[in-house]
Amino acid sequence: MDPHQRFCNNRSCWAYGRVGEGHIVIHSKKERRYKCKRCSQTFSATKGTALYRSHMPHDLVAAVVTLLAYGCPPQAIVAAFSLDERTIYRWQLMSGRHCQRVHEHIVQAGGVLLAQVQADELRVRVVGGVMWLASAISVTSRL
Ligand SMILES: [Zn+2]
Repeated sequence: MDPHQRFCNNRSCWAYGRVGEGHIVIHSKKERRYKCKRCSQTFSATKGTALYRSHMPHDLVAAVVTLLAYGCPPQAIVAAFSLDERTIYRWQLMSGRHCQRVHEHIVQAGGVLLAQVQADELRVRVVGGVMWLASAISVTSRL
């Protein structure tokens, strides 16, 4: 547990999003909770991640999300790990939201080194028109 890597998760706190400024301290090592010195709120180490409020082993969640990312069908994961299908969909939703927040925080804030970027486009004909999809990725950070 490193409180210097964390920031306050309370959006109304002025320390929200400020990493490494000493606002966060360890509240409980056993329960893996942090505390903000500015607003006195506590939060768990997994707050804001796909692991938040998950009682399953974190390695299992990571394995399931990785399988989903590589296109494994949820029904196969249900059969292999004996999990509920709703649990898998919730983990997928939570990890997607986490990835979206990381993307907004790092990529859209200009925190990616753009020395070398690979860009690609895709043209798809659909009924009633043509759709374009463009993507770009930084070679060094893969963001
Ligand atoms: Zn706070």
